[in-house]
Amino acid sequence: MAAQDQALQTKYYATEILNTEKDSRCRLCQQFDETIDHIISACPILVKEQYIKRHDSVCAQLHFNICKETGVQLDKKHWYEHVPKSVETSKGGKVTILWNQQIQTDRTIPNNKPDIIICNNEKGTCMLIDVAISGDRNVTKKEAEKILKYKDLTI
Ligand SMILES: [Zn+2]
Repeated sequence: MAAQDQALQTKYYATEILNTEKDSRCRLCQQFDETIDHIISACPILVKEQYIKRHDSVCAQLHFNICKETGVQLDKKHWYEHVPKSVETSKGGKVTILWNQQIQTDRTIPNNKPDIIICNNEKGTCMLIDVAISGDRNVTKKEAEKILKYKDLTI
């Protein structure tokens, strides 16, 4: 609740609201105001490793749940132990799930590697899934970016 209300003890909050600090810059990067939005999705120090780890964890959990839902045999009980395989096929071969795979196309397409692809082999359809973890304010923008990014592959 405090994070949603933007009331966590960030340096920006301490400077602007509480007046207990004078410097509102981020403790890590020292470049931008240390707001909640900055910490969760915009810090150039965290972007190098922590945001990628978070993205990969979300993808792994998503992959685990998709496998479970589609009847893929899983060797781990919990999502956090799950290590996604490049290709998984459900019992009976109805669904194939691709993990981080480059898709071959007739012509060159620069963005051809979404995080997860669910292929319904009976219907002959594919669902492309690309994960983005953005701050609340950037959800619509990120969504539009992803749709545009994979437009050629979708076609
Ligand atoms: Zn920062």
